[in-house]
Parts: sequence; structure tokens; C-alpha cells
Amino acid sequence: MEEKKKNKSKLPIFYHVLKALGVILIIVGIVVGAVSGWNFDLIIVYMLCFFFGMVCLIIGFTPEMSKMAIKTQRHILEETKEDLKDIADTQADVSKGAVKTVAGAVKDGLEEEKMFCKHCGKEIDKDSKFCQYCGKEQ
Ligand SMILES: [Zn+2]
Repeated sequence: MEEKKKNKSKLPIFYHVLKALGVILIIVGIVVGAVSGWNFDLIIVYMLCFFFGMVCLIIGFTPEMSKMAIKTQRHILEETKEDLKDIADTQADVSKGAVKTVAGAVKDGLEEEKMFCKHCGKEIDKDSKFCQYCGKEQ
């Protein structure tokens, strides 16, 4: 498990070589250009050095760029997650309020149909003339 992690974080030597090669090529290009006083006859030499140096650097930094892209995506997901949670919470609150209103209305509706016996205090139907528990008149 630990070895697997090590291998994963270890970049292939190929990328390090490319990065070094890119830096060297660009330095060589600058040196050649500067020494020749940016001689137009040598433009092909230092331009090629810059070009291939840049290509090497771009390829050499591909893993880092991929990692950055993944990091960016993860960051966006994290941000979105918060927003989605907010939306879900808001929806839950709205639903909760609606459910409360409905439940309250149902409860009120049920309560309207009920009353308490004057004698024994038990809950009985509102319209009943006699208590169904103690039998006394209301
Ligand atoms: Zn009663």
C-alpha cells in the first residue's frame, strides 16, 4: 500500500530529463543569441533552441499541469458542493415549512371535530350529545 503510494508520487525520470533539457536549450539559445549579438544569420539556431526548449518544458510539466487541472476541478467540485448543499438545505426548509403548515392544518381540522367531556374530561366527538365513555349529557 505504502509502496504503491510512493510509486504514484514519483514522476518518471523522463519528465525531469525533458524539463532539464528544456532549460538547457533555452539557456543555450540565449547564450548563442547574446554571444552572436543576436546575429540574423544565427536566428535559426537560437529560435530552434527556444522552440524545442519550450516544447520540452511543456511536455516536462504535463504531469504538474494535469495535477493542477485535477486540483482545479476538485476545487470547483468543493465549491459546487457547498452551493448544492445550500440549495438542498433551502429546499428542505421550504418543504419543512410546507409540511408544518399542512400538518398544522390537519391537526386543527382534527381538533375542530373533537371536544372534551364536561364530566370525565375525555376527548369525544364535538357533535355528540352524550359522552361515549361516561354516558353523561353534554
Ligand atoms: Zn364523560
